Amino acid sequence: MHHSMKERIFLSSPHMSDEGYEQHYVKEAFDTNWIAPLGTNVNEFENELAAKVGSKAAAALSSGTAAIHLALKAAGVEKDDIVFCSTLTFSATANPIIYQNAIPVFIDSDYETWNMSPKALEEAFEKYPQVKAVLLVHLYGLSADMDQITALCKKHNVALIEDAAESLGTYYKGQHTGTFGDYGIFSFNGNKIITTSGGGMLVSNDEERIAKARFWATQSRDHARHYQHSELGFNYRMSNVVAGIGRGQLKVLDDRVAKKNYIYDFYKRELDDLEGVEFMPSNEWDQPNYWLSAMTLTGKVRPIDVMEALEKENIESRPVWKPMHMQPFFEKYDFVGTDVSERLFETGVCLPSDTKITDEQLDRVVEIIRGLWG
Ligand SMILES: *Cc1c(COP(=O)(O)O)cnc(C)c1O
Repeated sequence: MHHSMKERIFLSSPHMSDEGYEQHYVKEAFDTNWIAPLGTNVNEFENELAAKVGSKAAAALSSGTAAIHLALKAAGVEKDDIVFCSTLTFSATANPIIYQNAIPVFIDSDYETWNMSPKALEEAFEKYPQVKAVLLVHLYGLSADMDQITALCKKHNVALIEDAAESLGTYYKGQHTGTFGDYGIFSFNGNKIITTSGGGMLVSNDEERIAKARFWATQSRDHARHYQHSELGFNYRMSNVVAGIGRGQLKVLDDRVAKKNYIYDFYKRELDDLEGVEFMPSNEWDQPNYWLSAMTLTGKVRPIDVMEALEKENIESRPVWKPMHMQPFFEKYDFVGTDVSERLFETGVCLPSDTKITDEQLDRVVEIIRGLWG
């Protein structure tokens, strides 16, 4: 044991409210014995989240992955349909395309947004005019270029699904990410900006489709006294206990976004001058939640040097997502673009962005990183 071992600094860890809002709602679930995948917390969490992001309807589900799956289903994606998907993302974005036996075509990022390149998307539409849906990601809480992408989807009359798992609290030109497309999804996994321990939300302005998603998520039980099923069902509903945590967390979302912004500004101010360092892009139309602060390193200090130096001090950091078209499982699917996402993966590093981080800890992270430049 190192006596000098300091308390671990996390990339992003659960951060419950100081006020105990979450426990209040969880206690209510216990007191009323609504320990089930339905109840007041589920209904109210849906209403409160929909109001927060400015969407007409929401369905609380067991995970963000489940929400993506049901979004694809709601958009009519079936066997052998083509879905354009951001390549620079977590595998949870792409996996549900396979659950539907559909075919992903991965789309490159651009340097301006780190997200789906409108240029590559346009190329993909030319190559695959029969495409069924576009599934884009707002990476690390940065917004994709929504004006251009929604225009392309409208022009080709193709459904747009936004994976906003990392971007709850992010606004593009004043409108919340996840509400531009036909469907949006959010995640409340343990490392997200707010968490329920695990959970997700599907949002849409189409209230009928959301009602349908709730139906699928509760085993597709037809209206009948006996158990009757005319469609394939899923067990994807959020528990009323978990939804209580979500209601409490939603009350502190704005505080979390403010702290994530503070962390990003801190790193950028203290590290931006270093040779080869470039921070994730900022666009005047973007108001990011800065879920994770990330930078690229193209000088003599490489991402692995930063990660190793931080790990030695018990500080967590991570490479940028490895693109899906480079993953052994997804290699056989087509990719449209150049080498942007690959370069971001090779040069990118995510810095500790935990909302419980103190100024003293931020100073330590900065000091360790600056030290690598000698
Ligand atoms: C976390 C995440 C998901 C999956 O959400 P879960 O709730 O963990 O299923 C999907 N897409 C992206 C981009 C994510 O970061």
